[in-house]
This record gives sequence, structure tokens and C-alpha cells, in this order.
Amino acid sequence: MRDDVLPEAVRERALALAAENQLPAYLYDLAALRSQAAAIRDALAGAGVDFLYAAKANPDPALLRVIAPLTDGIEVASGGELEHVMDAAPGARVAFGGPGKTDRELMAAIGRGVWRLHVESVRELNRVIALAGRRPVDVLLRANLPFGVSGAALTMSGPFGMDEDTLAVAARTARDAAAAGSGVRVRGLHVHLASGLDAGQKLTLDARVLAWARCWLEQYLPGRDRPEINLGGGMTVDYADPGRHFDWEAYAQGLAELDRGPAVLRVEPGRSVSVHAGYYVSDVLDLKYTRGQAYAIARGGTHHLRTPATKGHSQPLVALPGPGRSGEPLNDDELTVVGQLCTPKDQLATGVPVQDLCIGDLLVFRMAGAYAWNISHHDFLMHPHPTFAYLDPAE
Ligand SMILES: *Cc1c(COP(=O)(O)O)cnc(C)c1O
Repeated sequence: MRDDVLPEAVRERALALAAENQLPAYLYDLAALRSQAAAIRDALAGAGVDFLYAAKANPDPALLRVIAPLTDGIEVASGGELEHVMDAAPGARVAFGGPGKTDRELMAAIGRGVWRLHVESVRELNRVIALAGRRPVDVLLRANLPFGVSGAALTMSGPFGMDEDTLAVAARTARDAAAAGSGVRVRGLHVHLASGLDAGQKLTLDARVLAWARCWLEQYLPGRDRPEINLGGGMTVDYADPGRHFDWEAYAQGLAELDRGPAVLRVEPGRSVSVHAGYYVSDVLDLKYTRGQAYAIARGGTHHLRTPATKGHSQPLVALPGPGRSGEPLNDDELTVVGQLCTPKDQLATGVPVQDLCIGDLLVFRMAGAYAWNISHHDFLMHPHPTFAYLDPAE
């Protein structure tokens, strides 16, 4: 709960939003976002690795406009994201992946000149071939590999990608289609196997993927100039320790040391790019003890910030004295912070130590820049949507 961890500009804007009755609010620090994305780009560029941003982490147009120019492209996972990103960040190269793409989505992607299409099955590949005709479409085949991932928060096994035998069929299918005049070209492989990996874990996984992918590319795309390997995203962040960031320097250094042969390497992180740039700012509506447990009821809740409910963690937060604070101050070592929803699942944080917390004090939730607003069930209980505010000294 120490408040010295908040950047001064964030603290000031949060207090201003409270004074203007604009809470709850999402507050995005675009300057911090810009320097984070630039640091990632610089580290990866030093290793000769392409940097894509996975838009599903946070597709807010203002964030996309900051991130897109610092990347080699944006990865989207639906026709909706495709249209949205192409409109919000015109000129950005777009890679389109994800399971269950409809003909309509594929047509939109081909029609709008998508840069890479990540194909998930042989049936999908055949549909792309049928829809594309002679128009050029550059494809990566998504591989589902049996590489156990220790320490992963989420293992992306299941319906994603193709096994080795199916990949071989896909490669042959594309080759036959190309020989018959199709514009579809397989440029390489796409592999996103897990999320929540630190630099060491991700490198261990990437080394296995690379060793396998190099053999595969030699066998199935022989002679292809600069075949491509997209190593996916999933770089971890630590909600229990917001100051600990994914070590991009070490990761890029490690990637540079792996033997990639002639392949172009690419990664597509989402969470680790934007998470630290977002804050969800709320204030205390009520304070109470019930059955011995201290509660703060925050304005808003998990319908705006679903992340702690989804991941089962306490969202890190800082309390600030609010401009209109009132009532008896509460001191407790184990405060539970809940929102306004009529469900016990509406918990934002537990076990929070607080000193002199009053009604009207601000609760500034950190690490709310990824998988936060855009994964939340906004209209449950019909509370108003939050305000969106942006801090950008460059403007
Ligand atoms: C979600 C996703 C990402 C981004 O994952 P993060 O954990 O946000 O880095 C990248 N690639 C694919 C295919 C994804 O589904």
C-alpha cells in the first residue's frame, strides 16, 4: 500500500479525476507505455528479432497508436480486432491468428491485405486457398507441440494449431496449391504454447521449439529464402510484485545466442507490453466489519477489472487520501477490497494492510493495462462504465 510507487503524474491525475467526480476511471500512462514498448523493441532489435504486439491484451486505440509505430506489426485474433486495428493504426502490418476463423473474417483479412495469416488447421488452409484464388496470401502454420512447460500460468494445448502429421499434410496442400497457381504461400511456423513464463523458462521452451522448427523448415520448406518462426507471446508479469518486470534484455540476449539458421525470428507479447501502463482508479464507498472481516467497498468492481477474479490474485493497489474523505479511519492488516456487484466473486484484493483508510479515499489499482477492461463483463448490474483518461506529456 506504499504510495511512493505511483508516478507523480499518475497520482496527480488520479486525485484530479476524483475531484471532478470522474471515478471509477481507467488511467493510462502513455509515456510509460511508450518507453516500455521502445525498450522491448530496442532489446529485440539488438537480437535481430521482430516484435509484434498482441492486440487482445489491450486494443484501446490510444494505446495502439503509441505501440504500433514501435513494433514490426500487430497480432489480432478475430475479424473484429482486424478491422479495429487497421482503422486505429493505419499502415501497421497485421498478423491474424486464432481458432475458428469464419469465411467472412478470412475474406476481410485477404481483402484488406493482411500481412500474415496464422492458419490453425488443414481445413482452414483449404478455405484460405479457395478464398484467395491468385491473390498473394502469406501464411504461417500454427504448430501444437508436445513440449511440457513447467511454471506456465496457462498452457495453450487443446484446439490450437496442428500436430506434426497434420502440419505435413498442410505443407503438402499448400505446395500443391501453389503449383496449381494459388497465391497462398507458407512462410513458416507460428508457435504459442504457454503464457506466464519468465525469461529463462521462455528461452528453454524457445530453444526446443527452434531446434524442432529448423528441422521442419528444412524438410517441408526446402530452399525457402528466410523462413519465419513466430515464437508467440506469454512473457510473464508478477502481480504479487509489480516492480518485477519481464527481463527483456536477458531474453533478447538469450534469443540472439540460439541457433536460428536462416530463419527470421519473431515474438508477439501482449500482457508484458501494456500491463504496467494501466491503472484502475476507484474510491471507497463504504467500510465495514462483518463476521470479523474488514471490507472496503470500492466504486466499480470486477465488471470493470475482471483480472483478479479471472486469475485468482489480489490486484496490487495503492490507497491515497481522497479530496472528500470522511468518517472514522480504519486500520487493518487484512482488508478485503470488493466492488459494487451482488456476488462474492466481486473481490479485487484480499489481505491488504491499511492505515487510516477513510470513506472517499482513492484506491489506485496497478497493473490494469492488460486483460483488464476488455475482458470484463461491463454491463452486469448496469453500473455506469468508467471514465477513460490518458496521460501523455508528449502531446
Ligand atoms: C494471447 C496470445 C498472445 C499474447 O500473449 P501474452 O500472454 O499477452 O503475451 C500471443 N500470441 C497468441 C497466439 C495469443 O493467443
